[in-house]
Amino acid sequence: MGSFLSNLAKALLLITLLAHAGSVQAVPVQGSQSSGSPPPPAGDLKQAEPTGGSVPAEEAGTEEDEPLAESEPAGPPTHALPHPASPDPIYWVPTEGMEVVLTIDDGPSHLTEGFLAILAAEEVPAVFFWLAGSARLPLAAEVVRQGHQLGTHTISHPRLPRLPPAEAERQIAESKAALEAAAGVPIHFFRPPYGEHDRHTLETAAAHGLTTVLWNVDSRDWALADDPDTIIANVMARVKPGAVILIHERTQTLAVLPALIRALREAGYTFVPLAEPVPAPASGASGE
Ligand SMILES: [Zn+2]
Repeated sequence: MGSFLSNLAKALLLITLLAHAGSVQAVPVQGSQSSGSPPPPAGDLKQAEPTGGSVPAEEAGTEEDEPLAESEPAGPPTHALPHPASPDPIYWVPTEGMEVVLTIDDGPSHLTEGFLAILAAEEVPAVFFWLAGSARLPLAAEVVRQGHQLGTHTISHPRLPRLPPAEAERQIAESKAALEAAAGVPIHFFRPPYGEHDRHTLETAAAHGLTTVLWNVDSRDWALADDPDTIIANVMARVKPGAVILIHERTQTLAVLPALIRALREAGYTFVPLAEPVPAPASGASGE
């Protein structure tokens, strides 16, 4: 007689455990790896602490490989994302070798084809951050055809944190759409003008499937029209493995670009593209 009761008790205990296990399983999805977005692939973009401020620090973040944890924001926006992206900007890329990423801002310009010719001759891949308001936007298809990457630098180069939120979002969303239409490929990268961003900037970019790419090596080329050799000196003084190097479509930069590439190569560096994000799973299934 006791055996019926004890079997019943065991069954109830089992049911309780199963139900509990089910509920426990559902909990950690939140907050840990951000529900809905796949974990970054090996060799994916490095994440760093957001500065929350204007121009990024020379060296934001550390060399540590596990930057997540306490400082991680609560989670992604709750609405469906076309290409889930982290709102955390990247300043450099993880690498085991002497690799750097060359990024070229503020095009397309009358100099774009000159930059492309040098990059092609030197077989250097680059990432162009462009203003979608430019009449030269159709050049985007040629940039992609030559193996370079494109990111948006907004429509008209405003200081985004000073704009009403809706206008800041328009600058990001419409420039992405225009670049995609011109280039014929999805655009995954975004660089705010002057590096100026706030939380809204970063979250808006992420909500539109864009990874915010800042830099950790500033050539200051825009200020060196009369002293182009210092562009090279600035880069060589700061460069290290994984560096994201910032230059602009400027006359003085174009003039020293072959020498800059040579100096980096002589120091042992090779040029790599940014890692493209992994596409989101096809179904909108909840959880993993
Ligand atoms: Zn710019």
